[in-house]
Amino acid sequence: MNNLQNRIDKELIKEVEVLLGESTQISIIPHSGPDGDAIGSSLALVQYLTKKGKQAQIISPSAYPVFLKWLPGNSEVWIYTNGKKKAEKYINSSDLIFIVDHNSFKRSGDLEEVLANANAKKIMIDHHPEPEQIVDVMFSDTQMCSTCEMMYEFIEALGDEDMIDEAIAECIYTGIITDTGGLSYNSSQARTYQVVGSLLAKGIDKSKIHSNIYDNFSPDRMKLLGFCLDQGLEVLSEYKTAIITLTKEDLLRFNFKDGDTEGFVNYPLSIQDMLVSVIFIEKDDAVKISFRSKGNVPINSVARDYFNGGGHMNAAGGRTEKTLTEAIDLFKQVLPDFYESLSE
Ligand code: 5GP
Ligand code: MN
Repeated sequence: MNNLQNRIDKELIKEVEVLLGESTQISIIPHSGPDGDAIGSSLALVQYLTKKGKQAQIISPSAYPVFLKWLPGNSEVWIYTNGKKKAEKYINSSDLIFIVDHNSFKRSGDLEEVLANANAKKIMIDHHPEPEQIVDVMFSDTQMCSTCEMMYEFIEALGDEDMIDEAIAECIYTGIITDTGGLSYNSSQARTYQVVGSLLAKGIDKSKIHSNIYDNFSPDRMKLLGFCLDQGLEVLSEYKTAIITLTKEDLLRFNFKDGDTEGFVNYPLSIQDMLVSVIFIEKDDAVKISFRSKGNVPINSVARDYFNGGGHMNAAGGRTEKTLTEAIDLFKQVLPDFYESLSE
């Protein structure tokens, strides 16, 4: 039986009420390379706290894709790498810091040390596995489809559901759909649809949001996708695994912009019988890897054990300083054992 009630720990909410009451300046930190869920949940939170009369600021460790820039409140977001001093000063004079959509300072990118050394009280709101004990109050729930879904629950648990207006609802809805592939995967709990129903009741324009996110690509991005599936795809049928490779030259050729490869890794999972899809993208400083899997295939263990990363069972990421070829070779080398372990 699915639980249709609010799933936030009420005892922890009491602690939040105390912390909010004591704080005058609040920092909100999404993870590095933020996605729709990280930015959506941060924007929902900042607008909610502002409505409550708090001074709050989102400081993103790094930039994010254009297809998220239409979100309400976007222009107020600070990007740490665009102004480090100002951001550090704000964080260091904050009395409360929210760590949003991540659960380890390692995922805070260049802000890792600043956050680890900050004296402020910290609250985590996150849905990834294996949270680190780095905060004073931790909301960590891997059952949630997204941090945005948790943010709705968080605000409701604080007794402020009526403060969720259309703008906040748009931000929350964005994270829910971007983290579930448009409510396709990781979204089988009835409660999620109650939350979505409440967001629709706030007046959000669902079609407009989908169009802003998914119908906003450049011709170059479309051609890069075509190239990727035609030239970059390798199917290892024996292991029900597909690999996509993109070199620096490929990216240059199609005028790569941040976010252009978002979602590419999902395509090979539409091939009959595929269980695993991996994309290797050669960047200037490292190879970035995204992993996706279906069902009970814990691809996050490969990300964690071999590629300095982690994530959810079916969606994980990592990076390596190895060359592109070395990284792919390593993956192919560990694949047979990983595949073997699935049948154990
Ligand atoms: P993506 O492939 O879209 O970058 O990330 C997929 C999922 O894996 C996301 O939930 C993200 O939070 C997680 N993830 C991506 N990169 C890393 C990483 O380097 N370390 C960890 N722990 N998780 C990651
Ligand atoms: Mn998320």
